[in-house]
Amino acid sequence: MNDVLARLHALQAADLPVHGGRTLAYVYDSGLPDVDEVGRAAVAAYAGSNGLDPTAFPSLLMMENELVGFAANLLEAPGTAVGTVTSGGTESVLLAVQTARDSRPDVVKPRMVLPSTIHAAFLKAAHYFGVEPVVVPVGSDFRADASAIAAAIDDDTVLVAVSAPSYAHGVVDPVTAVAAAAASRGVRCHVDACIGGWVLPYAARAGRPVPPWTFAVEGVTSISVDLHKYAYAPKGTSLLLHRTPALRKPQFFAEAGWPGYTMLNSTMQSTKSGGPLAAAWAVVATIGDAGYASLTADVFEAVDRIVAGIGEIDALRVVVPPDSTLIALATSSGCDPFTICDEMAEAGWYVQPQMAFGDSPATIHLSVSAATLAHVDDFLAALRDAVDTAVAAGPVQVDAEVVGFIEALDPTALTDEDFDGLLAASGLVGASDDGSLALPERMAEVNAMLDVAAPEMREALLVAFLDRLSRPSR
Ligand SMILES: *Cc1c(COP(=O)(O)O)cnc(C)c1O
Repeated sequence: MNDVLARLHALQAADLPVHGGRTLAYVYDSGLPDVDEVGRAAVAAYAGSNGLDPTAFPSLLMMENELVGFAANLLEAPGTAVGTVTSGGTESVLLAVQTARDSRPDVVKPRMVLPSTIHAAFLKAAHYFGVEPVVVPVGSDFRADASAIAAAIDDDTVLVAVSAPSYAHGVVDPVTAVAAAAASRGVRCHVDACIGGWVLPYAARAGRPVPPWTFAVEGVTSISVDLHKYAYAPKGTSLLLHRTPALRKPQFFAEAGWPGYTMLNSTMQSTKSGGPLAAAWAVVATIGDAGYASLTADVFEAVDRIVAGIGEIDALRVVVPPDSTLIALATSSGCDPFTICDEMAEAGWYVQPQMAFGDSPATIHLSVSAATLAHVDDFLAALRDAVDTAVAAGPVQVDAEVVGFIEALDPTALTDEDFDGLLAASGLVGASDDGSLALPERMAEVNAMLDVAAPEMREALLVAFLDRLSRPSR
């Protein structure tokens, strides 16, 4: 057994570090060793428990109700509010969309109105549930355009959604105006606070200017907030809150039309591990209100210092002053953002490339954690070096022929053989000595290639890439 565990730990060396505050996307680190330990122990203790049936595992129901209660206080929810623990932000969003759709069986072709900065999980929900996304451009401040959203609402609109904050730019949408417009048409308004929902309330309590976005805003009918982001819980939990039980009702699924137990589910999963829920409960109980207030003060101190530091680097700018803990960076011409990402990776920092979108150039995304505060000076020093290297290296050279191909081809007309050729030519996959697939070490050239591809082509290439990666080892 110890051998196997030792192998597991050795395998993790290839992965991004989960702790240490140097991974600025995907993971969120409180920096508190007790918190990690309690989370891990709770996952282990509840790994085999099944959240399928709250009467069989009443402790899980109790923990869920306590977590929802804690969040309801945080989100200024009225006494009528209810909620559910889900497996993550995407599941919370999927359920918000499914619930809105199923609350309107009278609408044959349901639609939802979304600002263009909304998380891609809504487009996934549109795809899964047959709800047409009506995507409205944001304003020059990267915030939803409330009047354009109001104008896009029609009789088939079942949902309007906004972000607090948006993932790509880190700004809070004008929730008050959008929610009022939705309410005036009798349409649900979901606030996607998956990433900001656990820090913005503490920031507001500490006196930072936070635009209104909670249930205190009239017309907000549901809010999603991830526990596995800024509640610093292990992966696998998010919350979906509704203003009233009636609004939540279509989310629940019961099926008695088969010979087994009557299926009764609050979420998309049926059998579900109690581990993540128990871990989230244990982490929230360990950190508590005062702990989150202090972690939030730390993370915003880190954000402010990083923003100030970026202001002193000529070739960099913050795309928009952040309302929360996410920062989007743009580079001046001649300084390639993807090269910066590679250089940062070599220095032990993970920062996330974001492709060009609409009029916006490619940017670099930072999700700052409380644990990053201790390393802000190191981070800024690494960033300065990375920028110097990127400027000296000049623009990334992409093979003109491959670019020509990628730009000219219709992804729906390509065969598997075409994709094999494109993946090899773009450097996304190569063959290693033993014949297996090799991932590229440096991503700048690959990212530059993907960046010139139309979104449909990029999607098709990456799906082909994932398909080639996901093959059984036998
Ligand atoms: C992370 C995130 C999601 C999706 O959450 P997952 O936990 O990755 O499934 C949705 N919306 C926003 C704003 C997010 O940041």
